[in-house]
Amino acid sequence: MNASSPVRGIGMTSARTRRRLVEALRDQGIGDERVLSAIEATPRHLFVDEALSSRAYENSALPIGRGQTISQPRVVAMMTEAVMAAPKLEKVLEIGTGSGYQAAVLSRLAQKVFTTERIGELARLARQRLHRVKIHNVYARHVDGLTGWPSQAPFDAIVVTAGGRLPQPLFDQLGEGGVLIAPVAGSDGMQRLIRFIRRGAEFEREDLGAVSFVPLLEGLE
Ligand code: SAH
Repeated sequence: MNASSPVRGIGMTSARTRRRLVEALRDQGIGDERVLSAIEATPRHLFVDEALSSRAYENSALPIGRGQTISQPRVVAMMTEAVMAAPKLEKVLEIGTGSGYQAAVLSRLAQKVFTTERIGELARLARQRLHRVKIHNVYARHVDGLTGWPSQAPFDAIVVTAGGRLPQPLFDQLGEGGVLIAPVAGSDGMQRLIRFIRRGAEFEREDLGAVSFVPLLEGLE
């Protein structure tokens, strides 16, 4: 790496370290090549504060300010892989934009991504970052995601990246065969990642494993 050219340096390093991250994810059981390619193509270091960019390709969650975190790459990969069960991905809704990274990964697999964030400053920063990496099919709003995004429903997939009680509007806004992925509190208080698939009025439910997300909260900040 050329020390006098830090921007170019991180660019080159990140392509290589991103490949390494993808290898690590593959070893951890992420098998969908479309998901791995989307992760390989998404510069995670541009979605965290510059002071943390050297740690962007570690397989860990990182702080993004206001007490929130960018999810661990393994969890982003798991959620994205779970979304791929939807029959099509024309419209995807995300609750909890945070850094914008999960939305950026989804934008490579879906036609349009609608994402909601209750903290104004995070919503603004995420929009800036998405613009900077030239992603133009993500629509980001500073709104309370508990009511979903009714004017754009039905969605092929809904991804909830904060843990709490799942509100009914999210189920209502899911199209037929659509997939809802969310961390749900189990009986022991620990969160499990659950995939719901809509079959008419019924929802198939599958437990994808233990996770740990920041809380899903009501109202704007
Ligand atoms: N998907 C994010 C992870 C964000 S952490 C990423 O890739 O970086 C979860 C985010 O959900 C936090 O930013 C938090 O403010 C937001 N959040 C919590 N409750 C919410 C709600 N009701 N509506 C919208 N966003 C919410």
